[in-house]
Amino acid sequence: MTKKKGSPSSAGTYIYVPICAVLLACTPAEQASEAPTADIIVEGSYVVTMDENQSVIKDGAVAIKDGFIIALASTADINSQYTAAEHIKGDNRIVMPGLVNGHSHAAMTLLRGVADDMALMEWLNNYIFPAEVEFVDPDFVRIGTELACWEMIRGGTTTFVDMYYFPDIVAEVVESCGMRAMVSATVIDQRSPDAENASDSIRKGLEFIGRWKGKNSRITPIFGPHANYTLNADQLKATRAAANEAGVAISIHMSESPFELQYSKDTFGMTSIEFFESIGFLDGPTIAAHVVWPTEAEIPVLAERKVGVIHNPSSNMKIASGISPVTEMLRAGVLVGLGTDGAASNNDLDMWEEMRLAAFLQKVDRMDPEVLSAQTVLTMATSGGAEAIGLRDQIGALSVGMKADLIQVSFDDVHFVPTYDVISHLVYVADEQDVVTVIVDGKILMRDRSILTVDTKRVTQEARTLALRIQTSLANRNK
Ligand SMILES: [Zn+2]
Repeated sequence: MTKKKGSPSSAGTYIYVPICAVLLACTPAEQASEAPTADIIVEGSYVVTMDENQSVIKDGAVAIKDGFIIALASTADINSQYTAAEHIKGDNRIVMPGLVNGHSHAAMTLLRGVADDMALMEWLNNYIFPAEVEFVDPDFVRIGTELACWEMIRGGTTTFVDMYYFPDIVAEVVESCGMRAMVSATVIDQRSPDAENASDSIRKGLEFIGRWKGKNSRITPIFGPHANYTLNADQLKATRAAANEAGVAISIHMSESPFELQYSKDTFGMTSIEFFESIGFLDGPTIAAHVVWPTEAEIPVLAERKVGVIHNPSSNMKIASGISPVTEMLRAGVLVGLGTDGAASNNDLDMWEEMRLAAFLQKVDRMDPEVLSAQTVLTMATSGGAEAIGLRDQIGALSVGMKADLIQVSFDDVHFVPTYDVISHLVYVADEQDVVTVIVDGKILMRDRSILTVDTKRVTQEARTLALRIQTSLANRNK
């Protein structure tokens, strides 16, 4: 069944397009045998593929083997052609690609709600930096990242791009919780929890990348230079050179706030993106978080350089950074994905909320309800996001040969009754609680809302104990 642009055809039915071609793409050996075996078959009342044609299969199923999608078609076709050890039923469930969170600081879940509703510099100087200086160590990062992975799995996120300290610990947690992630070695020119200065963080970053590159196909080590106001031009150039030498991408905060824009003009005599381009920083894969303040001249540069822009609407709203010109960037051909940013500034890791806010924010800003459609926003959270972070050849859509990163969303809840348009409901109605199954790399991480790969009881206890110490310390400090 194929549905285009999220609009039901007449009488609310869907146009059936047999997907024999998809089945034929299976390996010849499998076609020859009677009933080839899959590891898992996942069914759904709808399979929202997010493929190039935005196909939606009604009463569809996905067959998974060795971590890959080996077939998808109608449930009847899949079940007549495959047997599987594990069969996940799909009545009243939507199967879709897992969500891609393009920008996060996972371990900051431990600083969630430590202070809110204040100016950025007061928040940073009186709360976040002191707490980080005193408490961020490998244990903090482990507990905070475990919390974050738990929250993200529960909400249907299967891939995230992270930027924090002690990246080895982040990578170890990602390895054990079963998610997919790009893990940045943070580069910042100040004494940080895991390095002395910029050159020390580049050196340590290269060592981290050496340890993790090619070690686990779910984990991509990258560089994460913080921003152009925490690193100078030489340090940024050195980070790009190190990233290119190691053959990895870079994730960075870019053109986030009016402060950054002014700083860039005062210090470099140019706006942020203009400056990055002038020093050759965009000569390699770049994931740019925020991009709230690009100039008209800078937007084509982002498109030309294939910079992956990650829009973080809730963080931009809460910190009052501004409204990113997402519509203009998409129109200019910029790759735009979605992210949550850290839970200390957001205050959660809920990609469903980011989707809704992304759409609403553009509409009210432009006073035009047509500017960012539900289908476009869903693309930003899945295939578009995967493209923005450079993983579109592996994830972000359901098609044969792609990694089996997918979720099931239940529509049993009252807010799904009735459902006229699946895409509209996914973007404007669904929330984390509706996600019932999460599969990454062909492994089940959540079944019927039970998290299988994080010891949630232990993590809760560890997080509460640590939070008590943080709270006491900040209270004494700010007396
Ligand atoms: Zn950030």
